[in-house]
Order: sequence, then C-alpha cells, then structure tokens
Amino acid sequence: MMNKQGRPTGLNTAANLSPNSFTTHTGNRGLEQDELLIYEIGDTQRTGVDLEDLPVFESRLGGITRDNEIGLAGLSEPEVMRHYTRLSRKNYAIDMGLYPLGSCTMKHNPRINEKVARLPGLADIHPLQPISTVQGALELMDRLAHWLKTLTGMPAVAMSPKAGAHGELCGLMAIRAALDKRGENRTIVLAPESAHGTNPATAALCGYKVKSIPANKAGRVDLRALKDALGPDVAAIMLTNPNTCGLFERDIIDIADAVHAAGGYFYCDGANFNAIVGKVRPGDLGVDAMHINLHKTFSTPHGGGGPGAGPVVLSEALAPFAPVPYVIHGKDGFEMVEHVTGGGESFGRMTAFHGQMGMNIRALAFMMSHGSDGLARVAEDSVLNANYVMASLQDIMTLSFEGPCMHECLFDDRFLEGTGVTTLDFAKAMIDEGYHPMTMYFPLVVHGAMLIEPTESESKQSVDQFIGALRHLVTQAKSGNSALFTGAPYLAPLKRLDETLAARNPVLRWRKED
Ligand SMILES: *Cc1c(COP(=O)(O)O)cnc(C)c1O
Repeated sequence: MMNKQGRPTGLNTAANLSPNSFTTHTGNRGLEQDELLIYEIGDTQRTGVDLEDLPVFESRLGGITRDNEIGLAGLSEPEVMRHYTRLSRKNYAIDMGLYPLGSCTMKHNPRINEKVARLPGLADIHPLQPISTVQGALELMDRLAHWLKTLTGMPAVAMSPKAGAHGELCGLMAIRAALDKRGENRTIVLAPESAHGTNPATAALCGYKVKSIPANKAGRVDLRALKDALGPDVAAIMLTNPNTCGLFERDIIDIADAVHAAGGYFYCDGANFNAIVGKVRPGDLGVDAMHINLHKTFSTPHGGGGPGAGPVVLSEALAPFAPVPYVIHGKDGFEMVEHVTGGGESFGRMTAFHGQMGMNIRALAFMMSHGSDGLARVAEDSVLNANYVMASLQDIMTLSFEGPCMHECLFDDRFLEGTGVTTLDFAKAMIDEGYHPMTMYFPLVVHGAMLIEPTESESKQSVDQFIGALRHLVTQAKSGNSALFTGAPYLAPLKRLDETLAARNPVLRWRKED
C-alpha cells in the first residue's frame, strides 16, 4: 500500500506471509524485541557491579538474619537498560497516542510540570527537614490550596489524601466526625447506580450501608427516588458531577437542598472536575466535601505513570474536622499543624507526611501556566472534543442518553446486536488499530457500555483519525466480519489473556525450575 505521497505504508500484503501467523526465529517482530523475565536473563552467579567484601561486623538483626541466598538475578547495566526499555515499548502510553479511557482523563502531561517538579530545591527535600528550611515548599502547598479553594468556591481544603479514593475516605471520615459531634448515629450512604465503584467501597469501608439510587431515562439521578430514600438514617449522598454517563446533574441544587433538609451531607465525587473547572464552582451547588483528582484535572501522570493526589475541599460545616497535617501562616512564616491538640475537632491523620508533594508541584505548574482563562478553556475544549466524537459516531453507534454531553460520551452495545461481536471484542480490535480501548462495561446503567473521553489535549486531526478508526470497525462488524473482532488483538505482543484465572490464581513469584 502507498500513502498519498507514494511512500509505502501499512502491511506488505504482496507477500504470501500473513502477519497473523508470521513467526520469527527470535520471537521478535520487526524491531520490537521479545522480552524474558529478569530472572531468565540474569542469574545469581553474575553481577553488574564490583563490590568489596564486607568487613566482619556484628549483626544487630537478632533472630531475623537471612540464612539462605536471596536469589536475585544479577544483570549488567546494559542488560538492565534494555530489559526495562523493551518492556516500556510494549506498554501503551499517553505520549504514544490518544487514550480514550472514559472517567480516567488521560490527557497530555505538560513537560513544564516535569521540569519544575525536578528542581533540586523541590525534588531533594525531605518531610522531616526543619520547617525553617522548607518554607518554599510550604508556600507552594499553601498557594495550591488557595487556588483549589478559589476554583471550587469552598472555604477549606485537606491536602494530604493521596488519590481520589483516598479523598473519598477523607470526606466520609469528616462527615462521620461531624455527625458524631451532633450525637447522631446515621448508618446509610446513598449512591446513584452509575457511581464509580470507589464510592460504595468507601462508604462500606467506613461502616455505612450503601443504598443505590436509580437513574432516570435521561441518565441522571431520579430525584423522586432520591427524595423517597432520604430519612433520619441517611448520613450522606455520594454523587459524581458531571456523572459517569458524561452528563451534568441538572437537579444538583435540588438534590443538595433535599439532602441537607434531611440532615445529611453532600459528598461530591469531583473526578470529572476537568469538565467544569473555571466554569462552575461546586461550592455554589451546595457541596459539603469533594475530592479533586489532581492527576486527572490538573494533569499529573497516572495510570502506571505515577502516583496521583486527591485533595478534598470542605464546606464551612465540615472544615473543622479536616485531617492533620495542614499548613498555616505563623508569625515567623509557614508552619505545619501536625497534631490534634486539646479541643481540636480534626478526625486525625491519614498519611505519614503531608501528601504527594511532587503532584502538588505539577498541579500548581499546570494552573499557573494556564491561568484562569486557560483553565476555563480546559473545560470548554474537553467538552467540545467529547461532543465532536459523540456527534461523529451517533449515526452508526448507539448513544445511551441524548446529548449534548460533558467531557465524555457514553455508547452501549445495541449497535452490535446480531453481529456476534461483543463490547470486549470491539475493544480488542481497537488495539490492532493502535488505540488503547475506551472504558468498557462501566457505568453499569447501560448494557455493554463504551465510555469515551478524548480530553482537551487532542487535536482535531488526532480525534478525526480516532473517529475514522471506530467508523471502520463499526462498518466491519455490521458487514459480518466478526473474525476481525473475536480473534483480536492479532497484532499485539500478547493476545487475549485469561483475566479471570490471573485474578483468581495470580502467580506473583518467580520460582526456579528444577
Ligand atoms: C478516577 C475516579 C475515581 C477514583 O480516583 P483514584 O484517584 O483513581 O483513586 C473516583 N471516581 C471517579 C468518577 C473517577 O473517575
């Protein structure tokens, strides 16, 4: 095949060798190297470094001294470099292509963030250093906290939670502390059907019973069902907005009012804040607590690329119960409050130190490089891109709920009816086309869900290419070419793995074969 300039491209179908069955002597494919386990490459008798023998010393390990060989494989430096580089090339990454995983906000991580996070004055400090030597770092946290409060219209923020789910835990613990203070033992947390799995999991971990609220035909919380479920036993509702169908909860103010009137608190899952940042302040909607996934909205690497961070903004009612530690303005500069002192209402401590400093730096760099107008553009462009995808595919795929959508669009598997192709098959065929699949089978409110989030950092050209690939696959499925799907992926280094077996019987430890 030739491209428009006459340059050869694609598969050389002239040869009678099928790429699917083509095997090589080495197991390598083209310039992609096959890779063994590190234990299969090295062995215990080799080492990449030359260390002097240890001097004789008195062990202070008592009875726990190892009495056998540790059994680690020794590799040379070039072997180590190649091992990890080869593995990394098998991995899909946001730096390789569009990554449409709905709800996960896989957008570009600007390199300015990385540059700033690596500055020695920020990267090489330690949480146990004297406070007077880390004033700059504390000022950075204070400034990030200021902007998070400003963007959300909330009076307080807990900076230490280390992920969205950790933030949910923080929020529910603050809610329970507030209820304890009121002397009320409420036992139920309400969660809409479309809730992210972390919501009911968090509520259960905190000892609450979870009651599910159905969605209405428009993919939003059924307000009548919600009102019926409210009562003196309800501690809180956990609601995602925009929700996991990619839709704005239009009744959100009525929902907040109803929950408050029943004496409960409103926890908002803020993972989708990138759709409304700079446009809507959750504080104006009646939210009491909301986590912000810095790694989603404010672009810090995640999904195998790095740890996240989940600061939680809190309303006036919940602010006193925020966890320690937190930064305050002291008379000689910034100080950290590390302990709950007499009369303090903080529910305690969630982390050893103060949270994910590296992510705080990246998030502030993202905010400052965008400015307030740029952050509003983030929301506008993420919503524009998702609606463009929705509008370009809705004639051949089945849209679950009428649009317009927010930052992601939800399709279901009705368009595959009678083709013998499932959502899973369709997703696997996307891998052959060079795309990480969209989020599948979530949310649970529709059958065979396909949730697509292009994010704002994709160009029109890249979104068009993605739409073209999906239209091609849909046409193939509808024209009866089901083998293209049921055997996919044909071109990936690994094919369909037995995911159930892997989950039920994971082999996590390498054992030497006898
Ligand atoms: C990502 C996400 C979470 C969980 O956040 P983590 O940082 O992965 O713990 C919770 N709710 C929604 C809607 C999400 O998209």
